[in-house]
Amino acid sequence: MSKNAHKKIYGKGEVIFREGEKGHCAYLIDHGRVEIRIGRGAESTPIAVLGVGDFFGEMAVLDNSFRSATAVALEPCELVEVSKNQISERIEDTDPIVRFLISMLINRLRDSLRVSEELTTSGVISVSKVGHSVSKVVKLSELKKNKEVVEKIKLEKALKDALDEDEFMVHYQPILDFKNGGVSGFEALMRWNSPERGMVRPDLFMGIAEETSLIVPLGQWLVKQVIRDFAKIKKQSAYKRPLFMSINIAAKQFHDKNLFKLLSQTCQQYGIHPKEVKLEITERELLRGAFVFDWIKNARKMGFSVALDDFGTGFSSLSYLANLEVNNLKIDKSFVEKIVNDPKSRSIVKSIVEMSKSLDLTVIAEGVETQQEWNLLRDFGCTYMQGYLYSKPLAMNDLVALLTGQKKKRAA
Ligand code: C2E
Ligand code: CA
Ligand code: CA
Repeated sequence: MSKNAHKKIYGKGEVIFREGEKGHCAYLIDHGRVEIRIGRGAESTPIAVLGVGDFFGEMAVLDNSFRSATAVALEPCELVEVSKNQISERIEDTDPIVRFLISMLINRLRDSLRVSEELTTSGVISVSKVGHSVSKVVKLSELKKNKEVVEKIKLEKALKDALDEDEFMVHYQPILDFKNGGVSGFEALMRWNSPERGMVRPDLFMGIAEETSLIVPLGQWLVKQVIRDFAKIKKQSAYKRPLFMSINIAAKQFHDKNLFKLLSQTCQQYGIHPKEVKLEITERELLRGAFVFDWIKNARKMGFSVALDDFGTGFSSLSYLANLEVNNLKIDKSFVEKIVNDPKSRSIVKSIVEMSKSLDLTVIAEGVETQQEWNLLRDFGCTYMQGYLYSKPLAMNDLVALLTGQKKKRAA
């Protein structure tokens, strides 16, 4: 074998690696053909012949174990080496479920290789042996090792069923105007009313809904539910001041081509003007690329307001703000909760409010829990507040009762 800058060259008949050796790298065939054999010595049997563009030797690298086959150059070969690091870094960055599935597949493949080897050496293999070998792959002890992953798979399935079973619901948290102390709008917050798990908060399921793309049908369901509820809230409460409704939009929904159409049609159906609807996207999402800026532009063109949620936590550059067509900022509660005791957080919030004013953005302070926080934020010139000081998120009927003055504020 000889080597040039990034390729390894093997002569005809040369062994590239042997069964039982530790695997340090995988190979891509750039020139020539390679035979893969299982079993040792004269008893070994060819199981595949690979050609240009084929990838091999990855199994031992993926699960950090020994080679389960031997690779031999059938003719002069040029191979590109793919190092363990190149592969393992990617695997480590992968979703744990994908990692789990890969390791299951490798085990299954190894087992089938072992079965074929026994078949070729003994000529016969009993059915019970094949059965044993296959069932080993999904042994309970192996699943237990991956308890977290298994829990996640179960939760994913439960979430999918929950949408079919109509177990999701929406709560609404009032947003108040600092100037007159009255309710100006609401944020729609998803809840999962699970028969087994009770009322589940969104932090526990929104991430998974997003990873699995369930967020797209769930988001569409939410839009219809929330706009319909919004029309009912306005009608039933006969509230005198203008109101808005905020809807959270997750990153995967930027690619949902039907979302804007659905929003517009539903607004039209229930007599809601798009300007009464704020779409909340988190500051973090801006880092995903230029398409997010275009998405915001489209939303504004269609008449919707856009709020930058969790502002201050996304580490995005402030220079973004000048080119961004958002019209609201929501200061994250991690800042708000520190403004009373931490002078630095107080200065940051004060500066955000001042900067927002000069950029003509309204500011919503999130997570306001105390009167002291309220006073400071009002003095800074914040536009709106949202927090337990006034009310937690409420079911629609409780919200209507609150608006009509039938229920005391800070209801459960
Ligand atoms: P978020 O968008 O930042 O929503 C505000 C969260 O702060 C809500 O939590 C709300 O209940 C909570 N909160 C409001 N005031 C206070 C307060 O004074 N003190 C404290 N400690 N918390 C307060 P929730 O409802 O658990 O939602 C958590 C997150 O889940 C939301 O954070 C949002 O990122 C996500 N989420 C909720 N509903 C949806 C949805 O329909 N779509 C999407 N994409 N995400 C959603
Ligand atoms: Ca939000
Ligand atoms: Ca937020």
